[in-house]
Order: sequence, then structure tokens, then C-alpha cells
Amino acid sequence: MQLLDVSATRRLLNAVGIEQAISELAGYIEGDFQRWSEFEKCPRVASHSRVGVIELMPTSDGVEYCFKYVNGHPQNVAIGLQTVTAFGVLASVATGYPELLAEMTIVTALRTAATSALAARYLARPDSQTMAIIGLGAQSEFQALGFRALLGIRRLRVFDVDKDATRKFIRNMQSQGFEIVAAETAEDAVRGVDIVTTVTADKARNHILSDNMIGEGVHINAVGGDCPGKTELQAELLRRSTVVVEYAPQTRIEGEIQQLPADFPVTELWQVLVGDVRGRSRRQEITVFDSVGFAVEDFSALRFLRDKANVLNLYKEINILAKARDPRDLYGLLLSDAT
Ligand code: NAD
Repeated sequence: MQLLDVSATRRLLNAVGIEQAISELAGYIEGDFQRWSEFEKCPRVASHSRVGVIELMPTSDGVEYCFKYVNGHPQNVAIGLQTVTAFGVLASVATGYPELLAEMTIVTALRTAATSALAARYLARPDSQTMAIIGLGAQSEFQALGFRALLGIRRLRVFDVDKDATRKFIRNMQSQGFEIVAAETAEDAVRGVDIVTTVTADKARNHILSDNMIGEGVHINAVGGDCPGKTELQAELLRRSTVVVEYAPQTRIEGEIQQLPADFPVTELWQVLVGDVRGRSRRQEITVFDSVGFAVEDFSALRFLRDKANVLNLYKEINILAKARDPRDLYGLLLSDAT
């Protein structure tokens, strides 16, 4: 079994470049979403606690199988831990053998940005130039880079309730060629922008965006509301928007649309990507990508990592699967010197 650990992922991203990696990964995600019916799909398996959630996200296309372990604990930052951590496994369906174990904390940020920007390419107005980002934590820089890579967005208006997060974002991004304005409030951040990304972490029903804050023609990339009882948009705003989701059965449990009746009409992203449904159909339309993160994105990400790591020779073999010379003599393995 091969391991792609944090240092290998860093080397991979240094070699490829983060924006290039997000662009290429968006291509893998688009290709996999376009063969949607080939995938086994279910809402992720979530174990909720008072402070957060631990989730398992499985899928398979009949040839390969993957799962990701991921958590979401907004209060972790206060004790010096990340809100989100993850790792994933890619396995062969033919043998059932796991083939790749990969770090996926960084990769989750990459694939989330790639999916957001991919959706925005179909949903945002083509002449979009400015984006507000509300919530400047671990995901935020990746979102900025993804939207520049896929949509050419260079002008950002940003806001976080924590000034340290704002300083961190500006420190990381100011040398990257963005024009950045730090806003005093969320209302100020969204004023006059074409796209709004909400990527806050709080286990609560928040109104990061209320109905009166958003004018005609805006695209909203709602990333932070991804759990029951954890939302960012006011329900009235959703009601006057065209809402696109990844996988409706999961998003109705976890996404912004958990606030709306079960028959509220939504489009799944794959329908837009194959051309069955138009993305944006009017200039004045408000579009929302109600992102929660779906297993097929992780499947695409693991395939992308494997292909890149092969080319760049970044793998490390790990001895985690017992391998007896006679496959039925597992006991004999314990008696021999070989491990
Ligand atoms: P993080 O804890 O690193 O950052 C969150 C930031 O939001 C913090 O800086 C915090 O100060 C800020 N914030 C909280 N409340 C706010 C408010 N009312 N207004 C403005 N800023 C506020 O978390 P992260 O890893 O960046 O993740 C952000 C969110 O995205 C989480 O809720 C996470 O679960 C979610 N997420 C979604 C996906 C997806 O696929 N949709 C993927 C990864 C993470």
C-alpha cells in the first residue's frame, strides 16, 4: 500500500503549483460528475456531538472504491487545533485491496475550492470580477486561488469576525497579486461584488448573508453551512435564488436548504455539467451553490493525487496490510521472521 503523507502533498503542490493543481483537479471533478450515474452514492455517515461531527464519505465507480474520514469542530481553533482534518483511502474493487492512503486535510481544501470554482464557472455572470470572502480560516486562501485559476477573479473584499484571521489572510495573499480590501462588516464586504463566498465555521443557524444584503445577478458560493443546525444564509434569500447542490439527498440534510421544505426545487451540479440544465439563465438571477462536499469530489481528488504522485515519484510504501506467503496461512506469518 502506498502512502502520500503531508510532506509528499507539499512537494506535489510545490512542483505543480497550487492554482494549476486546483485547475487540473477541477477537470477530474468535472469528468467524474459527468459520469454521475456510474457512482454508488449515499449521504455521508455522520456521528454528531455537541461540539462537532465526524464523518465517513464512501463512493465507488465499480472499478475503484474510496472513503474519506473528515471532522468538523469549529471550537477546535480556540485550543490550537484545526476545524477540519481528513485522510482518505483509494482501493481496488476487483481485489478489495486498499492501494493508497493519503492525507486529505490540505486536499479537502483544494477539492472544495476546485468544486466551488467549477460550479461558479457555470453559475456566476461571465463578466464577474470581484468576490467577497466571509470567513478567513483554513479554507479561504484556497477559495481565492481557485476562483482566480478558473474565473480570473483578482479583486477581493474580505471579512472575518476575528481580526487575526483577516491579518493572516492578507499576509498569505498580498504577495500573490490580488487586490484586497479588508471590510469592517459582512454587509460592507458584499457591497457591489459579483460573487460572495461564505466559508465561516460555527455550529449555529447564522445569517451571514441576509436577504437584504444581496442584489440581482450575484452568485453565492455557500461553503460553511454543511451540517444539520449549521447554516449561513437566510431562508428568504434561498427562496428567491436558483439553488444548485452536489447530491440532493445529502444536501437536504446538511446544506442551506435544510431550512426549506423537502420539495424545494434544486438542481444537481452534474445536470448543469452535462448540459441537461442551464446554469445561469438570466443576468439578474441570483444563483447559490449550496456546497457541503460530496464523496465523488474526494474520489476525483484521490485519482488526481495518485496520477501526479506516480509522475513525480512521491510514494512511500507502507507495511500496513498483512501479507502471508500462503494467503490462507495468516497464522504462519506470525511464526516467520519476515514481517
Ligand atoms: P476555520 O475554523 O479555519 O475558519 C472559519 C473562520 O470563520 C474563522 O476565521 C472564524 O473566525 C470565521 N467566522 C466564524 N463566524 C463568523 C462570522 N459570523 N462572520 C465572519 N467570520 C466568521 O474553518 P475552515 O476549515 O476554513 O472551514 C470553514 C467552514 O467550511 C467550516 O464550517 C467547514 O465545516 C466548512 N467546509 C465545507 C466544505 C465543503 O465542501 N462545503 C469543505 C471544507 C470545509
